Amino acid sequence: MTIPNRGPASASARARGELDLDALRAGVGGRLLAGIDQAVVWDVAMRTPFRGLTRRDGVLLHGPAGWGELAPFWDYDADACAPWLAAALEQATVGTTDLPRYRQTVPVNITVPAVAPDRARALIAAAGASTATGPARSASRRPDAVPVTVKIKVTGARLSERQALAADMERIEAVRDAIGPRGRIRIDVNGAWDLETARKLLPLLDTAAQGLEYVEQPCGSTQALADLRRLVNIPIAADESIRLSADPLAVTRLDAADVAVLKVAPLGGVRRCLALVERLGLPAVVSSAIDTSVGIGAGVALAAALPELEHACGLGTVRLLARDVAVPSAVPANGALPVRPVHVSRALLRSASADAEVTSRWQARLAHIAAALQRRREREVADPGRAVAGLRL
Ligand SMILES: [Mg+2]
Repeated sequence: MTIPNRGPASASARARGELDLDALRAGVGGRLLAGIDQAVVWDVAMRTPFRGLTRRDGVLLHGPAGWGELAPFWDYDADACAPWLAAALEQATVGTTDLPRYRQTVPVNITVPAVAPDRARALIAAAGASTATGPARSASRRPDAVPVTVKIKVTGARLSERQALAADMERIEAVRDAIGPRGRIRIDVNGAWDLETARKLLPLLDTAAQGLEYVEQPCGSTQALADLRRLVNIPIAADESIRLSADPLAVTRLDAADVAVLKVAPLGGVRRCLALVERLGLPAVVSSAIDTSVGIGAGVALAAALPELEHACGLGTVRLLARDVAVPSAVPANGALPVRPVHVSRALLRSASADAEVTSRWQARLAHIAAALQRRREREVADPGRAVAGLRL
């Protein structure tokens, strides 16, 4: 007769995808991960490749307030990932139930990656097909319906790159045709254009869209956004200028944008985002990376807690994943997500859990991220002036 192994740190005793929390605590002295009793790696195929990715993976942390998620892309280093861990810890240990809730549902956009026009139409039809009011086209034509909002990724092609530019314009035209005249179209350039290219191309894409709701991060630098804003009459949204900048408040100081895009994970949590919105003083759009319903839940909580919400949010991305971990899944109906707690299904989590190789990569990565978060917090306590936007992580 063999005696069962009750040792908590044994890899064979842990379920598939589960991280060794004791080893992580040993690396950061325990306090940072206080209250976390489980950490599970998920790894899921994508239905539609996005950002060149065919799979997504991340970690779910469980604590007294439920599950929190961190799923930074693999090209982000540990310092860049520190806010993602802070956000996951906030979600798992403190939660958001004490925050104000100004609405019961959050309007969301449909996201169209850089795909062919037919695929763009299919994505919109699929999003519309799940609504009670029928396809997006008819929903947008009902006078009382909330207009459909579509966010289109563009390649950032320059004038000389005729084929890519034509593909961007054809995709935009196909979307306008699919959603009808009342629908809203926003494009995301991810900072790919220089000022001159943006000045020339933006009016062309605006025409293809028959009017853009806004263009997200057309140029890389905040100063270029400010300059462009004085040259074109198309609203500008700042994304990377807020989430990747050491000085996000420059967006307001330079009058560089009409809209602020906020993402909970890279900005270090729901509360930090709320404080940042207040300091920016701009209409906000809450967006996300491609997360499971857990990560999306943090975005929904933020959107619900914003006193004003003029634009649809970028939180309708769960359907880009082939699997999810929550029941019900945070998939929009009638162009909106309900504001409600996220229930993780143990069975779904098991089927989405990562294999040993991905899990061990995360074990090493999370140790680095935790150390980076700890260093940053110590630095900001010692010198509060170094905290980004005056907001400590
Ligand atoms: Mg963006």
